[in-house]
This record gives sequence, C-alpha cells and structure tokens, in this order.
Amino acid sequence: ATLRQLDMAHHLPAQSSYALQQQLGGSRVITHARGCTITDGEGHSLLDGMAGLWCVNVGYGREELAEVARAQMLELPFYNTFFRTATPPPIELAARLAGLLGGDLQHVFFNNSGSESNDTVFRLVRTYWALKGQPQRTVFISRRNAYHGSTVASASLGGMDFMHVQGGMPIPGVEHVMQPYHFGEGFGEDPESFAARAAAAIEERILAVGPENVAAFIGEPVQGAGGVIIPPPTYWQRVEAICRKYGILLVSDEVICGFGRLGAWFGFQHFGFTPDIVSMAKGLSSGYLPISATGVSREIVETLRASGEEFTHGYTYSGHPVCAAVALRNLDIIEREDLVGRTARDTGPYLAAALAERLAPHPLVGEARSLGLIGAVEIVAEKGTNRRHGKGGQAAPIVRDHCIARGLMVRAVRDAIVMSPPLVISHAEIDQLVDTIKAALDAAQAELAS
Ligand code: PLP
Repeated sequence: ATLRQLDMAHHLPAQSSYALQQQLGGSRVITHARGCTITDGEGHSLLDGMAGLWCVNVGYGREELAEVARAQMLELPFYNTFFRTATPPPIELAARLAGLLGGDLQHVFFNNSGSESNDTVFRLVRTYWALKGQPQRTVFISRRNAYHGSTVASASLGGMDFMHVQGGMPIPGVEHVMQPYHFGEGFGEDPESFAARAAAAIEERILAVGPENVAAFIGEPVQGAGGVIIPPPTYWQRVEAICRKYGILLVSDEVICGFGRLGAWFGFQHFGFTPDIVSMAKGLSSGYLPISATGVSREIVETLRASGEEFTHGYTYSGHPVCAAVALRNLDIIEREDLVGRTARDTGPYLAAALAERLAPHPLVGEARSLGLIGAVEIVAEKGTNRRHGKGGQAAPIVRDHCIARGLMVRAVRDAIVMSPPLVISHAEIDQLVDTIKAALDAAQAELAS
C-alpha cells in the first residue's frame, strides 16, 4: 500500500474533515524540507508560508539541532522532575528564558505543547488565588475567536465556537468578550476609538461578573489562528491598565508571537505591556521537538513557596532533557543570526511593503496587513468594503488551493489567507510568496466571476 492509502486506512490527522481526507485519497505526505521549502512524496516542492504550523522559525534542515539531540540522548535521554530531581538542559533553559522575559518573569514551568502550557496556566492561576485567600476568583476572561489550544481547559479558554460545539465546551468559568478585529468589527472606525471600545468590553464584563470573582485575562498579543488579528497600537496598554485596576492577573499567550515572530522576542515587548504569566511553545524549539514553557512572575512563585503547599501539577515530560537541549540551541541560532532584529528591521518591513504595493490594490483584497513576519490578506466581494463572498469563508479556500497548486503553502482562515513564514525567509522568497498569492487571487477572481 502507498503511504496515502495507509493514511486513509489508519491515520486520523489533526483538525481535519475525515470526509475530505477520503475525498483527497489520503493526506499530502511531506517527506523532506530545507530552509523555507517543503517537499512532498510526489516530488512537489512548496515554499512554506506557514513555517510548519507557525513554528519552524529557524527554518528546516538545521544539522546542529539534530546533533544536539543525538548527544543529549546518548548522555541522558530522560529523567523526570517529580522526585526533587531535574536534568541540566531544562535548568539552563529556564534561566535563559528568565533572561529573555525580563522583569519579574523569573520562573519557568515546562510542558510539551501550547495547550498544556495553557492548562498549566488554568490550574496555576486558580491555585494562586486560593492561596491568596480569594478562592472565589475563578473566572478567566478571554476573547471570542481566540485560540489557546485543544485540550479541554485550553479549548475552553479559546473562543472558537466551532471548537466549543464538540465536547461540551467551554467548561464553566470562562467568559469571552469581543476581539480587537478592526477590519471585521470596526470597519471604518478610527483605530484608536476602536481600541478603546474593545478594551472597554473587557472592563464591562469584569464588572458584570464582579471584579472579586475574576482570576485572569488571557490573550494572544496578535491572534494567530483566529486570522492574524493585529490590535491597534494602544489596545494592550489599555487592557493592562484594566487588569491592574481590578487586581486581575494578565496572561500573554505567546505561543505564536514569541521568539521573534513580531520582530521582538515576545509580543508583550512589542506592544509594551507586562504580563504576570507567559505561555510559550512552537518557536521555542522551532518545532524540532515538542516543548512548551510557562513563564511565571516572582509574586506568584513566592505565594506558592510561602504557602508550603505542593503545586500538584506536572507531566512526565515536563523539562524533557532532549527537547530542552534542542530549544537551547535553537535560541542560540536565533541570537547568532539576529533573527529577531532582522525581522524587525529588514524582512518584516519588506513583507509589509510588498503586501501594500502588490496585494492591497487587488480587486479581491479588502485589507493586507502584517506585523513582523505574520500577516493576513482579507478577501472581499466588493473593493472598499468588508463584505464577504457568499456567507463568508467561500473565497479564501479557493485562493489557498491556487497558492498550493503554484507551490506555496498558506492557510485559509474564514475569508483571509494567513501567512507566517520561517524567520530565515529571504527577500526573493518573500517576493515569491507575495507574487504567488497575487497569481492565485487572479485565478480565483476568474473562478468567482464565472
Ligand atoms: N496558543 C496559541 C496562541 C496557539 O496558536 C496554539 C497553537 O496553534 C496553542 C496555544 C496550542 O498549542 P499546541 O498546538 O502546541 O497545543
């Protein structure tokens, strides 16, 4: 049997329509990758406009990451952190992350995925408030259309209705408020008054729930999977002020934004706010091995320590030595090649200019936006409006398929094409990315008109 046949017979891929899997005759099998290019089993090469799944920040084929993993496996493949034991790599990685996070974010808990990190947040925050003598502070405030993962707690923190329908989520204690989606929900509105309105929605909900019951606010600096929602510049400072006013913990989900994506090490640094807790994954290891980290403030850790209580939480692979060793070397690469500064000063502005010059004028494009190396192209039925084709979400999959047919992997989110390429992308590859989307838009325009 071919791999495609075995895939269809036995393998259930993530977030997939199994009917579609059958229709396609099994998944496209990616077998090989170098730099920013992925290759499938049938020999097609594609420019990876998504860095895998928003994660392969240093690009593919880094031999030193393989070598570090091999050396650590031979030295010590595993030991746990449950028996008052630890191994060297996660200790070093925690110290390194504390330095990058800065300020009071001086403690790090390790998990295997972004979802698990947000489950850690869920338990840690509630434990903290109980230890502070305010056990009624259980409510999390999040945004509609947020993505925080796929486990029960993290999918509940997320605000995607279609994920909630399956499995009876959200679990109690999560409130969702409006997202700062200017193009979709504030079209034509002054961005600053829109930012004030979106932040005010948080305060209104806090007051409705009762500030004394609210444990934390959680948000992605830029919402990724929700469609690359880039908030107006002052939104986050307003959110921070509201959290401080009511003594509510502020959680920054940096699973996509962390490790250079926005042209800063972390999204909170770009937007200029100070969270109490930070979730990190994806770019932490550039996806070479699964590892995530939860950065925690001194105040929270001191409360736990002073209580003498155990935080009865942890995973077998919390602080896995091989994953942590690879993450450390990945951070070395990001630093050595200045991928954060390069994104801020060079490739990020180059992408923004290319989007503005070559895609924004297209008749199908309502908005083409980016920050650092994450971006979205909104597809509309009528230029100058935010009106969608059909019920919405009709046109982007057509454009995406034309991109893939022309050798570019991108994702469709509702009626937007989203992109998040490896941070090592060259100018020539950015040109290819933008020109391919343009050609795909032209092809889709003909198709939508017919
Ligand atoms: N948080 C954010 C912002 C994400 O984008 C994701 C994944 O896309 C997650 C959490 C969940 O991470 P994981 O898929 O590693 O569980």
